[in-house]
Formats: sequence, structure tokens, C-alpha cells
Amino acid sequence: MQAKELLRGLPAVDEVLQADEIQAAMAKSGRSIIVNCIREAIGEIRKQILAGQPVGHDGLKAQVIARTLFIARQKEKYNLRPVLNATGIILHTNLGRAVLSAKAKEAINRVAGSYNNLELDLATGERGSRYSHVVDLLKVLTGCEDALVVNNNAAAVLLTLGTLAKGKEVIVSRGQLVEIGGSFRVPEVMAASSAQLVEVGTTNKTYLKDYASAITENTAVLLKVHTSNYRVIGFTHETSTAELVALGKERGIPVVEDLGSGFLVNLESYGITGEPNVQELVRQGVDVVTFSGDKLLGGPQAGIIVGRKEYVSLMKKNPLTRALRVDKLTMSALEATLREYLDSDRVLQDNPTLRMLTTPAEQLKKEAEKMKKLLQKELPGVEVAVEQGYSQAGGGSLPTTDIPTYLVTLHSEAISEDKVAEKLRQGEPAVLVRIAQGKIILDVRTILPGEEELLVEACSQAFKSVQEG
Ligand SMILES: *Cc1c(COP(=O)(O)O)cnc(C)c1O
Repeated sequence: MQAKELLRGLPAVDEVLQADEIQAAMAKSGRSIIVNCIREAIGEIRKQILAGQPVGHDGLKAQVIARTLFIARQKEKYNLRPVLNATGIILHTNLGRAVLSAKAKEAINRVAGSYNNLELDLATGERGSRYSHVVDLLKVLTGCEDALVVNNNAAAVLLTLGTLAKGKEVIVSRGQLVEIGGSFRVPEVMAASSAQLVEVGTTNKTYLKDYASAITENTAVLLKVHTSNYRVIGFTHETSTAELVALGKERGIPVVEDLGSGFLVNLESYGITGEPNVQELVRQGVDVVTFSGDKLLGGPQAGIIVGRKEYVSLMKKNPLTRALRVDKLTMSALEATLREYLDSDRVLQDNPTLRMLTTPAEQLKKEAEKMKKLLQKELPGVEVAVEQGYSQAGGGSLPTTDIPTYLVTLHSEAISEDKVAEKLRQGEPAVLVRIAQGKIILDVRTILPGEEELLVEACSQAFKSVQEG
């Protein structure tokens, strides 16, 4: 049939509006939204006809109705929505990094829909500071004299250097000129803060004497950057924090450490080593420490600055602070997250990041076996197995730590694993998985309590829909 003739068969918007299903959709979503969906649906089918793609002449109206309802359902979905993370990467920057604890969620809920005392001192009735809600907690937890919270750790570094070293020199080891995903590069942040970078040492070795001999009357900061997302191994020498602090004291220059991940616990007994914690650096005398709220701390996105009062006070007065400030939702979640650290045992269970980091592999094996049974029932033609593997902390943290885990693997000769992964990603809820050696790999470590059934259901649907073509 000719395209022209087909186009003539397309229904008018008013005609489609009369259909019962469309009337029902309109009652739910509103007339103007549905009218737009109808126009879009007609437009799509028109394009299809003009491109010579097959559309049946009969039932063009039914096709428009079906397409309209599909578009309306798509539009109903929020753009930013929950997904299931079966990758085993605990802090996945693309998936929103740290999952908040129940208490942090409650805290957000409490302040979100009501007025609150964000900047009001209820005792005196005077204007208060939004930072006051967490400063005492940070003092107790880290031993610092004062603290400040900004939008993220990149902002914390920018503010710290922009306050302490604007127009002056900052000495950094060449081994620590890091790039963190999403274009945080130490030299670039330095330039943005109008501090002048003075590189010392080499990629693999930087000695105390390298820092000492680079100091001039223009030196404002000795900066140490934690190599969060990589390690220099082999023939190496890194100047220790203690050495740098001693040098700073002797020469009267503040020492700043950009820690990246903010560990407030010690998980060496869980096999997690090589990540200094904040309180240890403060105890060693580092003048200013900066770290993220949503990496190993397991809280909301934020940049936390802890350190000596004289330096933090200067930062609080910097106009940049106003531009980098956090809102009430972040503050409430951060306060709740930090409060949980007051009980150093319970926090390992209550903070999802710490819980996932420390769940023993043996426990995950049981979860994986349970999931295997469910999947075998759902997917008779698919090989389902439980295998040993490794999870990762992710988020540019603990780069050399592989965390032993158990994986559920799915394989079928007849079915493309790439197609299944695509279906999973596009499903509702979306599921993110790993693929290796022709298999779909589910790491149960990052499956949250209550998500197991959703995951099984999603896998079952994805395999079936690929099978059916
Ligand atoms: C992650 C990281 C940053 C950036 O922190 P954001 O909170 O993502 O802005 C900066 N420095 C180091 C060392 C990091 O690990």
C-alpha cells in the first residue's frame, strides 16, 4: 500500500481521545499530558510510514492508542529513580555512591516538609550557623578543633587552598597529582583556587628533603593528597604524614591532607587495610583534613573540612563558602550519619556502606545459594551457579583491596548475555550487572535487604524477553 494512503488512515487526535483506554489514562494523568502523548504517538507512526517501515493498515488507531499508552507510562517514570546494583561495587559513582542509612533517610524526611532551625539558635533566638549541627559531632569523632561542610570534597579542597594559599605556593609530591573520576585533578583545582602548584620529588619517590628545599617565603601550604584510586607500588618512598607535620611545625606552614574517603573506623580486622582514618591524621597534627561525605563515610554528598580553629575560621569567612554551602537535606542526613558513628559497633550494621564492606563472604554464600534456587525455578533452561569472586569498594576508594564475595552466575548458550544485560538495564527497576566469560554475574554483596525478589523477577523477565526475541 502507498504511504500516502496509509497516512490518510492515521486517526485524528480527537478520535483517539474517545477511546476508553485513553479516557482512563486521562483520568489518571490529566488531559493535556495525554493529548501530547497522542500527538507524539501519531508523529512516530507517521515517521515509520514515511520511512517505509511496515505498519498494518488495519488497526492504525489501535496502534496509536497502544503507542500513546506506552509513551504515557514512560513519561510517568521519574528520570532519577532507584536501580538495583548487582555489580558488587559498593560506592558506584554512576549509581549515586553511598546508600543512606535508615536514620539518615528519616532525618531528611523530618526536615524536608517542614520549617526547621537550619540557621536559628533556638536557645537564644539569634541567627545560628548551619554548620553548628555537625561541628560538635565532628569534634568528638575526629578530635578536631573546628569543622565546616561544603558541597563535595572537590569544593572542600578548593575552599581550603583558596583560603590558605590564594596567590601563594602549595608544595605537593609529584606522586600525588591525582585525577579522581569526573575530572577532579589536583593541578586544576589548584589553579581554580589561585594557588600556585610547586611539584616536588618524582612519581615514585618523594623525600622530606624535597619538600624542605622547595619552601620559600611564598609557601603557604604543604599538601598531601591521598592516592585514593591508585597506589604507587614497588620502588617507592612517600613522605609520611608525621614527617610532613614536623616540617610544617618547624617552618610555620600549615599541612593540609586531602584524604578523599573519610574513614572514621578501623576495619583492619575485616581485612580492609591501607586507608588512614580521619582521627588518626588529626591526632598526628595535620592542620586541615578534607574528605567526602559519600565515600567510605557512607553519608550524603558533601565535603567535610576538619582542622585547627584558626584555619577553619578563615574559611568560614571566605565568600566562596557561601557559594559552596550545603542545604538542609544534606545537613540532616549528615548529622544522622555522623550520630550513628557514636556507637562504633552498631554503625557497622546500620551504615549500609560499612555493612556491605564488612559482610562476611560466608554469609553472602548463603544469600547466593538462596537466589540460585529461586532463579533455577524461574529459568529452567539457564545454567545458574554460585561462584567465588571479588567485590570492590569503588568510588575511588581502596583500589587495591579485593573483597572476597560470592556471585550468582547465569548462562545460556542460546541467549546473548549482552542482550540480557541491556534488558536488565532498561527494565523497571533497572538492574546493573557484570558480564564476564559469557555469563551474567550478580554480586549479592550490593543487593540491599528486600531487593532479592525484585532481582530474581527482573532476571527472569529479562531472560524470557530475550528468549522470545
Ligand atoms: C574522591 C576524591 C576527591 C573528590 O571528592 P568529591 O567528594 O567526589 O568531590 C578529591 N580528592 C581525593 C583524594 C578523592 O579521593
